[in-house]
Amino acid sequence: MLTIILIFVCHWYIALFFQTFFHHRYASHKMFKMKPFTEKVFYMLTFLFQGSSFLNPAAYAVMHRNHHTHADTEKDPHSPQFHTNIFDFNKRTFVEYRKLVNQFLNNEITLTDVPRWPSLERIAESLFTRTLFILIYIGIYVAYAPSPWFYCLIPLHIFMGPIHGYIVNWYGHSLGYRNFNEMPDNSKNTLPIDLLMMGELYQNNHHKAPQKRNFAVRWFELDTGYLISDILLKLNLIQLHKAK
Ligand SMILES: [Zn+2]
Ligand SMILES: [Zn+2]
Repeated sequence: MLTIILIFVCHWYIALFFQTFFHHRYASHKMFKMKPFTEKVFYMLTFLFQGSSFLNPAAYAVMHRNHHTHADTEKDPHSPQFHTNIFDFNKRTFVEYRKLVNQFLNNEITLTDVPRWPSLERIAESLFTRTLFILIYIGIYVAYAPSPWFYCLIPLHIFMGPIHGYIVNWYGHSLGYRNFNEMPDNSKNTLPIDLLMMGELYQNNHHKAPQKRNFAVRWFELDTGYLISDILLKLNLIQLHKAK
């Protein structure tokens, strides 16, 4: 039982790390830079750990920038204020995201400030690859699950990336406290100590200062995504932009 729980927890946090570090903080906000080779390594690791629910970083970045520009207005690609049931909310997010992915894959969008790897993106997007990852997850559970009840966790592995996105976008804009009441959106800090989503649930803090690397503001708040990016900075795997 311990093995399967450990596998679940590891997949949860490693996949989450790549979404917050690579998709959100790097691709969407450019909070730091990295050398082209390092970018490829992180891109590959993102693909491997997101697996069946791989999210295209460029499409994610454009959608997320739109979210900041139009937070909790009608133009927000995912606002619980306008899509008040979770099915509508996730459907709207999915439709917007797929539209952007297709535009990138068909070269209808040619942004240069987002990470691209078209050949890998095509492989990652293919039905064959996604199915292969699903079979791997099932195989792991068949091998290690102590009872079939644990198979209920398999869908969480299959949809890991969108589940993380849903938790942040839904609860981060509907539930919690605010440090910055003057913000015109409905962003919230959902958890005082966000160990669940590596700092992503400090949406109110993040919307106040979208380029700030540390999403934590008050003494008790803890942004583990920031702490890890700080270690990567010290290891010189990523670098800060020079102050203008
Ligand atoms: Zn937000
Ligand atoms: Zn953001």
